[in-house]
Order: sequence, then structure tokens, then C-alpha cells
Amino acid sequence: MASREPIVILGAGLAGMSAAIRLRKGFRLLERRDTPERLCDTVTDGGFRFDRTGHLLHLSQGRARKLVLDLLGDDLIEIHRRSRIFSHGVYTHYPYQANLHGLSPKVAAECLKRFIEADAARRGKRARGKTFEEFILANFGVGIARHFMIPYNQKLWGVHPREITDAWCDRFVPTPKLDEVIDGAVGLARDEMGYNATFLYPRKGIGALSDAMADKLGEIEYGTAPSAVDFRRKRIRVKGRWIGYRALISSLPLDRLVPLLVDPPSRMVEYCARLRCTSLRYLDVALNRRPGTEYHWSYVPQKKYPFYRVGSYSNFSSQMAPRVGGNLYVELASRRPVNLDTVMPRVISGLVDMGIIDRASDIAFARPRSIRRAYVVYDRWHSRASGKILEWLEGENILSVGRYGKWEYAAMENAIVQGFEAAEAARKI
Ligand SMILES: Cc1cc2nc3c(=O)[nH]c(=O)nc-3n(C[C@H](O)[C@H](O)[C@H](O)COP(=O)(O)OP(=O)(O)OC[C@H]3O[C@@H](n4cnc5c(N)ncnc54)[C@H](O)[C@@H]3O)c2cc1C
Repeated sequence: MASREPIVILGAGLAGMSAAIRLRKGFRLLERRDTPERLCDTVTDGGFRFDRTGHLLHLSQGRARKLVLDLLGDDLIEIHRRSRIFSHGVYTHYPYQANLHGLSPKVAAECLKRFIEADAARRGKRARGKTFEEFILANFGVGIARHFMIPYNQKLWGVHPREITDAWCDRFVPTPKLDEVIDGAVGLARDEMGYNATFLYPRKGIGALSDAMADKLGEIEYGTAPSAVDFRRKRIRVKGRWIGYRALISSLPLDRLVPLLVDPPSRMVEYCARLRCTSLRYLDVALNRRPGTEYHWSYVPQKKYPFYRVGSYSNFSSQMAPRVGGNLYVELASRRPVNLDTVMPRVISGLVDMGIIDRASDIAFARPRSIRRAYVVYDRWHSRASGKILEWLEGENILSVGRYGKWEYAAMENAIVQGFEAAEAARKI
């Protein structure tokens, strides 16, 4: 009997939809909202298109790449990254640690000397640290730490780098070699560094990917969420009725899934309470003109600016804004609800300093937005708490996937691949 039950998938984001695409049949895909609240999404506002901040496709795995290319084909553009760091009135190339040229001689010299000392202490090898702060100091030295790494990351994470570990750094934080840092300090051009030197982007915004997946599937039950998951009897309660499942693939955030479980082990509830993430407040900003710089995005470490990163959708693709306009995402350092009256004067003055606009009237409108779960906080509990919950869930035939289903700093490609893998595992149950 059990094998006739469907595989139930929760959440129609990239992870849930790719699981369904892989399964093709024998599943039910339930999405809580009538309009899914997925991260990979684009909204249209006054003729401008806005994603949920920068969402660029880095596809290294063959099958995720194939799916995206099959779905979007000619709608994708390949883009060579133009990103910068804006500090003390100047732009330098990304990553800061490998491009000190252009900074004031005093700051550049301090960064370079302290980098050389740190490099000698770790004998040119990439160092690990107990905390992210230790990682920064050991790999880059106190100069780069002070002028960029600590202030920038504190704004991004909303917590001091001493509160998090370096478990997420391998992919996201380039650790250049000494000769690369020296070349970058005297202005010798090198190849672009990091995992995102080139990326793909749909001409009309990243939401085109989710839309194409949903169109391919056609079988999403919108406005449908479980009120309980009885894992012992392998059934979920939806709209007052129990539905049996063979396997459950959940892309719900773990801190949403665990409270739905009927009498879960108390250790799992305790582990769940340990999971942390930061929220994000940002602004969708529409301009009456093209942005004054061609950069895709810029990092802004200085405290005096209320944002830590500014990106431009219209610099990714001209179809993101009307022909004479432009549009931006402005990621705010504060996690508090946005009061436009107080924040906009500081945002405008920062954008003028950065040369993105000339005056307040260049802005057509600004909308405050938020993402409740934005970045996973890799504190000392993270690996143990998420690892234990995921292992236990799998033992109960609940395959938890996606950024907050696994509670990790994961990209869209990860969500797609995890969906595929969960579908393959569920078929064997
Ligand atoms: C600020 C930010 C920037 C990012 N930038 C990039 C980038 O540049 N490149 C990149 O590759 N990745 C990026 N990512 C990561 C990327 O967005 C995610 O990895 C991916 O979109 C996650 O997909 P998902 O399916 O796991 O989750 P989601 O997209 O969150 O989907 C979950 C779905 O579950 C639904 N749901 C919730 N509760 C229930 C319930 N009880 N029942 C049923 N359904 C429910 C929600 O409505 C939602 O539709 C970024 C993420 C953030 C936060």
C-alpha cells in the first residue's frame, strides 16, 4: 500500500520545483502562498523589474546548467562581472585583498605590510580560524581586516565576525597568494578572481527561471500548506484532511518544518532553537536616468553609509528598466523596519558620493523590502544543530532541501541539485 502513496513536496521554490521536475509523476507539490514567496523571483513595479536583490547564476554542475539552459536558452545573457569596493571616496577592484591599488598610499601600505607579515606567519598557506575574525586576521593581516573585512562583514552579517566561524568561506572568500596581492597593489591587471567572475542572467530578471520551471510543471497546488506532519504515520494534514506520503521532500525552512512535526524528539526542537540567520532590509530604487557607474554591484564597508552593497539590475540587463531609466538594489545594514523619511536622505547622499546619481530628483521611487531569512549565521552551533536535524529527518524519510531546508549558505544551483538528489532518493523509498 505504502508504495502507492505520492511523494509530497513542500514549497515551490527552486528546490521543490526541481525535485518535482526530476520526479515527473507520482508527486504532489504544495505551495503555501497563492503567489509563492520564493527567493528566486522578479517583481514588476512602474515598468521596472526588481529581483530579491542580486541573483546571478553560477552553474558549475552539468545537470543544473542543462536544466537552466533548456528552460531559458536565448533568454540568458553571459556577463563578465564588474564589481568594485567603494571606500574613502575611491573605487577599487574586487576582491579588496587582491586589489589595493587606488587606495590612499597610507592605507594601501598598511594593508600590504600587514598582509606580508600574515603570509609569512602562515607560510603562504590558507589558514583556518576558530572564528571568522581569526580567519581574516590570519589570512589577510590586520590592515585589510581593519579597512575592509571586519567593517564590511559586520554590516553584511549583522553580527561581528568573531561570532561566526569560517565554515562558509572556502567558496565565498578568495585568499590570493602574496605575488597576486603585490601585483594588485601596484596595479598590475590579473584575471578576475572568485567563483562569480562570470555568470548567467535572464534578460528579464531571475524570476524567469522560476516561471519557466512552474510552466514546465503545471501541477503546483497553490495556497496549500500542511498544518501538521505526522512522521510516524507518514501523513500530513492539509485543509483538515490527512494525506499519506511515501516520502516527504521539504524545502521549508527547518525552523518552520520542525514545529509542524507531531511530537518530535525534544532534542530536535532544542537543535532547531539553535539555528540562526540574519534578515535583510533593502530598497528597490527606480531611477529616471541610467546609473552613473557601469558596475554590477559595489561593496561599501564604511559605517557612515547606511548600506553595505549597491547593485544595479539595469547594468545586468537593459530590459530591467525603461530605456531612459535605471534601477538599483540597496542592501541596508540595519535590520530594523525601514523608515523612508529617515533613511532616504542618507541613502541619497551615499549614492551621490558613489557617483550613481547626481541629485535626489534622479530617483523616481524607492520601496522598502525585506527578506526574513537571508544569511545563515555560521556560529559554533550551526554545523552540529543542522547536521543532527537533517540526519534524523532523513531517517524518517523526510528529505529536507534548499537554502533553509538545509540551513546553509547555498546558491540557486545548490537548490536545484538538492531537489534532483532528493527526488532520486525519494524514488528508492
Ligand atoms: C539576499 C540573497 C541573495 C542571493 N543571491 C544569490 C545569487 O546571486 N546567486 C545564487 O545562485 N543564489 C543566490 N541566493 C540563494 C538563492 O536565492 C537560494 O539558494 C534559492 O533561491 C533557494 O531556493 P529554495 O527553493 O531553497 O527556497 P525558497 O525560494 O525560499 O522557496 C521556498 C518556498 O516554500 C514556500 N513555503 C514556505 N513555507 C511553506 C509551507 N509551510 N508549506 C508550503 N510551502 C511553503 C515559500 O512560499 C517558497 O515558495 C541568494 C539568497 C539571498 C537570501
